[in-house]
Amino acid sequence: MRQDALKRASQLFLIVLLICIAGMALILAQALGLGWPDAAGLHPPGIVAVAWNREVALISGHAGHDSGAVCEDAAGVVTLTEAEVNAKIAGLAAERLRRAGASVAILDEYDARLQGLRAAVLFSLHADSCIDASGFKAAVHRYSVIPETNQRLLDCINTAYPAATGLPPHPNTVTHNMTEYHAFRRIAPTTPAAILEMGFLGGDRTLLTEHAALAAKGVSDAILCFLESEKERANERSR
Ligand SMILES: [Zn+2]
Repeated sequence: MRQDALKRASQLFLIVLLICIAGMALILAQALGLGWPDAAGLHPPGIVAVAWNREVALISGHAGHDSGAVCEDAAGVVTLTEAEVNAKIAGLAAERLRRAGASVAILDEYDARLQGLRAAVLFSLHADSCIDASGFKAAVHRYSVIPETNQRLLDCINTAYPAATGLPPHPNTVTHNMTEYHAFRRIAPTTPAAILEMGFLGGDRTLLTEHAALAAKGVSDAILCFLESEKERANERSR
């Protein structure tokens, strides 16, 4: 009888020990950043588990909807569309951001994923009309619930974009279409977001087409400036 009881006790002890070891292994795996996929299985292990969220959503302006501004030559032949300029720069900016460690999604103008979107930042890329003018302009949501965060995003754009492109600001033509941009109302209200008119298809055509990499650098530098500043603020708060 006594031997039976001893045997059962030692079996029980072994089971408890195994559970403890398994638990510690899981805790260690998480601490090492190995993590495991999130519930939706959308992200590979380790991407979501990191402390700092670097998920960037770029809207390729007009994609999946229309051409945006359309430039024609004297004979009425289409020479350039806004949508193709936006798509090219969005692709190049995404490449740069991914190289910097961000996880980037390029969205259509009315992408279904905009509904309730949560991301570190949303950035919508557009270009201005075919007139012979020059300059960029950026705007954030007029009715934002995070006006200070969005202002920091705007400050980063207004510093990084002209530094990379050499373009002057063209701020007096910011329209309601920009400050009340449709995507601002669709995304989660706490997602920082901005819309950027990267230059004029007319006066800034050479930059936007032949030097698209410079515009893409301006976009990615602005986003990285913002992500770094938010990271620093989060670190300060946790100190
Ligand atoms: Zn546009």
